[in-house]
Amino acid sequence: MAPNSLVIVGAGVFGISSALHYKRSYPSATVTVIDRIRENPGAASSDLNKIVRADYPDRTYMQLAIEAQQLWRTDPIFKPYYHQCGMLMAEEINMGKASHENYPMIGQEELSGELLSVEEGRKRFPVFRDAVWDGAPYNYYNPHSGWGEAAEAMHSIFQAALEAGVVFVEATVKRLLLGGEDGKVCLGVEVVKGDGQTEQVVADLTLVAAGAYTEKLLADTAPEWKELQVDGRMVAAAAVQCQASYPPDQEEKLVNAPVHFIGLWHTHGESIPPFKGRLKFNCEVSFVNKTYHEGLSKEISVPPPQQSQSTFSDDVPEGLKQEVANVVKNTYGDYIEGIKIESYRMCWDAVSPNQDFIIDNHPHCANLTIAGAGSFHGWKFLPTIGKYVVQRIEGTLDAALARKWAWDRENEGAACEMYIPSRDLKEIGPFKGLITCEK
Ligand SMILES: Cc1cc2nc3c(=O)[nH]c(=O)nc-3n(C[C@H](O)[C@H](O)[C@H](O)COP(=O)(O)OP(=O)(O)OC[C@H]3O[C@@H](n4cnc5c(N)ncnc54)[C@H](O)[C@@H]3O)c2cc1C
Repeated sequence: MAPNSLVIVGAGVFGISSALHYKRSYPSATVTVIDRIRENPGAASSDLNKIVRADYPDRTYMQLAIEAQQLWRTDPIFKPYYHQCGMLMAEEINMGKASHENYPMIGQEELSGELLSVEEGRKRFPVFRDAVWDGAPYNYYNPHSGWGEAAEAMHSIFQAALEAGVVFVEATVKRLLLGGEDGKVCLGVEVVKGDGQTEQVVADLTLVAAGAYTEKLLADTAPEWKELQVDGRMVAAAAVQCQASYPPDQEEKLVNAPVHFIGLWHTHGESIPPFKGRLKFNCEVSFVNKTYHEGLSKEISVPPPQQSQSTFSDDVPEGLKQEVANVVKNTYGDYIEGIKIESYRMCWDAVSPNQDFIIDNHPHCANLTIAGAGSFHGWKFLPTIGKYVVQRIEGTLDAALARKWAWDRENEGAACEMYIPSRDLKEIGPFKGLITCEK
């Protein structure tokens, strides 16, 4: 029987989408979402914008993204915030080619893009006149891809959830409440509110959708209980982003710019065309932040506690600023004159070893479900991911998806291998001109 009450930790993509889908499926259930900040600008799900594409070397995510994109185009909750400007890739990691070949394999040939020679790519998109594509064997362009207004789309689904009857509580979850005869049943959560008061929120089922904070939350709950812990299934990792302005007279050159991905030995990042007078860039060479956890007596990766180290600010190490500036330079060069970086951000997500999500009932703790490990590619699934979480809770999730997103699994394949963290925040020195991703 489906639970009558559900408490969800985290109002990011995984948490809020699950809340809406659960309330739609079970209107009489009490659904409570808790987040430390309402529409938290420090959540990975909040941003200026995020890429929405179905180009995946992994056919399952391709199919899921096609489904989500359909709602981005049509559902009134998402449609106003979706911009289908196309996406151009210049890469040597076979992402474009593998995606191109996958569409016919899943019977969706008409949604595939086209492979272009580098010369054709430059001719088709003069905005990339100066882009550094050294090492790219080809360009891949898909006109069906685009981007979403991130904070706005999150606000829209948040409102839809509230209108459907979901209850929001602004508080920090200190730990999960454990009980039952053997202490292995989750009874809800203990929260601290802004006034410092501690409260308990009990529910039939607790869904942890705490993104990069999942490992710490489970460790804080019962550090001595080994089977409860994340233990390598996902790790808190970040990538550096920046927002840049440009003089108004350059707008004309940017009008038809697509989303651009460069995956080359000298540059590893993405750019999203103008929104609110800003260009956004990511440098996707990610890093962890190892922190000693007293209870576990070992280091785990946890995002830094200062809000300025997960939101757009200037609070980013110099070396990371240089890395993302390299993406800016190698995307537009001198063609767009007067680009000025206005702010930087370390965006923290949870990454699993093969970048598959985790959507599973905890095998050792009753009444506890975990959803997350967005692994730097989870945002585009905002319209649909909650449906799959509900199916996992009900036990109706397709067996192959249940295996793919299981807490315990083999971690076969790789959905987006380039996002695996390769260093620690504290070790990042000055940028030496070569990015650290594998050639
Ligand atoms: C640099 C970067 C770029 C990306 N770009 C894209 C992209 O272009 N396209 C794409 O599809 N995906 C992208 N992603 C991935 C995507 O953003 C994430 O996978 C997704 O947003 C993760 O959602 P989430 O709900 O798991 O986590 P979050 O959005 O981080 O939400 C977790 C929430 O839990 C709350 N929380 C945590 N612990 C507690 C606690 N103890 N008490 C109360 N609240 C708590 C937090 O405040 C937060 O609001 C990107 C990720 C990064 C890092």
